[in-house]
Amino acid sequence: ATMLEVNGLNHRYGSGESEHVAVRDLTFTVETGQLACIVGPSGCGKSTLLRCISGLIRPSDGEVRLHGDEVDGVPEDLAVVFQDYSRSLFPWLSVRQNVEFPLRWKKLSRAERRERAVEALEWVGLPGVGNKYPWQLSGGMQQRVSIARALARRPALLLMDEPFASVDAQTRFELEDLLRTVQVKHGSTILLVTHDIDESVYLGDRVLVLSKSPASIVADLPVELPAE
Ligand code: ADP
Ligand code: ADP
Repeated sequence: ATMLEVNGLNHRYGSGESEHVAVRDLTFTVETGQLACIVGPSGCGKSTLLRCISGLIRPSDGEVRLHGDEVDGVPEDLAVVFQDYSRSLFPWLSVRQNVEFPLRWKKLSRAERRERAVEALEWVGLPGVGNKYPWQLSGGMQQRVSIARALARRPALLLMDEPFASVDAQTRFELEDLLRTVQVKHGSTILLVTHDIDESVYLGDRVLVLSKSPASIVADLPVELPAE
């Protein structure tokens, strides 16, 4: 089944003299269970595309559909992980409270919220840090918590905007493997944006290559993994 449909998406910032085309004629779909990577140079329009998909901005033209419904506002069953983990966690809440926080808007009991948070922290390899505060953790661990917080919501689609760009290389390898494992185990549908070609090929079932600004698709490649 198709999870995400992007049809004829165009986005311009400003108008008249100062008009700037950030995204041009993007059309693609992401199937349920796929880990699709979008790769393109800095400034080509990747974040703009993600903002359109997540309903944070309304595209100038075209449409975005999430399991068939047009995106209009921020969809409840979509979660986003950003590059800048240091600004994404609440410093006054414990790790567990951070992961539970977005679950308040779901019809879940206190016990169910707690259970989901504990489980998501296990998925990302951080059991037992629930009572710590974000500032007591390393950068890589904070990004794991951000990922746990997104996964705890069990989103239909997980969007990731350069999620590993701010961590050291060793941590990045660990987090990439973790993401792969989580995706295979839970059948999550993930759209990940990166400027790193190696990362996109390593992680993706599929790699969409964007041109330099304004973003348009220049290649859509299936990634065939060699048999183990
Ligand atoms: P990327 O995520 O690939 O680095 P962005 O989507 O952030 O690219 O930016 C694409 C282009 O749009 C860039 O040229 C950038 O300067 C411009 N841009 C991004 N956000 C805005 C904005 N709010 N207003 C005007 N121009 C913007
Ligand atoms: P092994 O020899 O154990 O099969 P590699 O030496 O290929 O593994 O890689 C070691 C680690 O580096 C792996 O755990 C993997 O996460 C990471 N890695 C390998 N290739 C890439 C790549 N192109 N991009 C990102 N991470 C990679």
